[in-house]
Amino acid sequence: HPVIVWLRKDLRLDDNAALAAAAASGAAVIPVYIREPESAGTGPLGEAQAWWLHHSLESFSKSLEQLGSRLVLASGEALSTLERLMTETGAQTVYWNRRYDPQGIAIDSPLKQELRARGIVVQSFAGQLLHEPSKLMTGGGTPFRVYTPFWRAFDGAGDPPSPVDAPSRLAAPAAWPASEYLAEWKLLPQEPNWAATFPEIFTPGETEAQRRLRSFLEDKLGRYDTRRDFPADDATSLLSPHLAMGEISPARIWHATKGLGETTGHDNLIRFRKELVWREFSYYLLFHFPDLATRNWNPRFDAFEWRFDAGLFKAWTKGLTGYPIVDAGMRQLWRHGIMHNRVRMIVASFLVKDLLIDWRQGERWFRDTLVDADPASNAASWQWVAGSGADASPWFRIFNPVLQGEKFDPQGDYVRRFVPELAELDAKYIHRPFEAPLPALLRAGIRLGETYPKPLVDHGAARQQALSAYEATG
Ligand code: FAD
Repeated sequence: HPVIVWLRKDLRLDDNAALAAAAASGAAVIPVYIREPESAGTGPLGEAQAWWLHHSLESFSKSLEQLGSRLVLASGEALSTLERLMTETGAQTVYWNRRYDPQGIAIDSPLKQELRARGIVVQSFAGQLLHEPSKLMTGGGTPFRVYTPFWRAFDGAGDPPSPVDAPSRLAAPAAWPASEYLAEWKLLPQEPNWAATFPEIFTPGETEAQRRLRSFLEDKLGRYDTRRDFPADDATSLLSPHLAMGEISPARIWHATKGLGETTGHDNLIRFRKELVWREFSYYLLFHFPDLATRNWNPRFDAFEWRFDAGLFKAWTKGLTGYPIVDAGMRQLWRHGIMHNRVRMIVASFLVKDLLIDWRQGERWFRDTLVDADPASNAASWQWVAGSGADASPWFRIFNPVLQGEKFDPQGDYVRRFVPELAELDAKYIHRPFEAPLPALLRAGIRLGETYPKPLVDHGAARQQALSAYEATG
């Protein structure tokens, strides 16, 4: 009897425990991707990530074909779809790699029981995370809430399990079940094609994920610690969208960094690992506190009087706030479906603290527009910036968008790249065009309020308002 491997956010051959186990069983293998209904899985798929998913499925199908296999596409609830496929193929075994978001768990746990009750062999495997989230606990047996002790426990837990190699061949079943056509899923944007600029930097798929890892380790890891915060530098791995779709496993990345401390510098290596562990910590929080994306971790924020202002929110989404570093970030998001981590913090702080708009609106916008949208990292990071989260940045730490810009984009190269109407402005004013003398603006061809907006709010006044709004909740 063939084995069904149900693929989800693990579209890779390498270090795919479920696929490797199926290959090793000697049975025929039927890889299946199920398009679950909107509300299921990890919540509705964002539009940018739908673009990524389309290309990732295409790429993964090709890789499977090279092993003599295929990817079967099906739509529907997981249980009825798997049952139909089992009837059609005679399979009595289903393998998958575990997911850790609450919606995924709410589907997988009862499904496993239901199938087992019907005599089906179901086996789930680890691989999306470096350690199972139930493994690391405080001395008191409760989940960690603070990153640093979590990191220490993580570091003390020894190396994460070693990755498993890709199967070299997958036995095909006597007859393949019918597959749906990817094009009919309509995952790609209709007109206008706002994703047309994504390929300027991204190619979805496992091959590219591995290439990016190699080039990061060779060319960038050696300056990661000092340069990772500068958005104009190409200093980070850009592996996040590949990780979000499971095209590469965190274990493969972790183990690839082993032994590199000597050549790349220990600080760089540790810094990079710590970032990977932020991803782990985000999943850990989401696993232990499933409301992370929807509820303030700190209930004090439930009393917060957020502002509902569609006009301000829209200006933020479009990158028309009048603060160049914020606008550059929001426009990078439109152009490439990604944003540098430092700038994510700045734009998030601006939305929540300068505009007093509920962090959940920002979280949703990011979910829809980021190619690396991740239910754990996105929710945990928004709560961190808002100050409502576990181990969060305190509310009174309010980023000044001008000073942040000047510190992390001193020549304004990042702003010039994404806000072309400011490209000719002197570096001295690039982060504060509203303070530039008229001749400097004229020389740069800028008419404030016409070619580039005046600031939506005055940061100093907005800061005071944010502090009072918080006081009012206590
Ligand atoms: P690198 O610096 O090369 O880091 C390597 C990997 O470590 C990343 O690919 C990522 O998986 C992980 N990582 C790095 N920084 C963080 C972090 N702060 N938190 C969690 N994991 C991290 N990341 C997402 O993957 N998806 C999201 O939806 C997401 N939303 C965010 C929202 C906000 C408001 C903020 C402030 C951060 C968010 N992040 C999110 C975290 C971070 O910005 C990205 O992971 C990072 O920018 C990805 O770029 P990179 O792959 O080049 O990172």
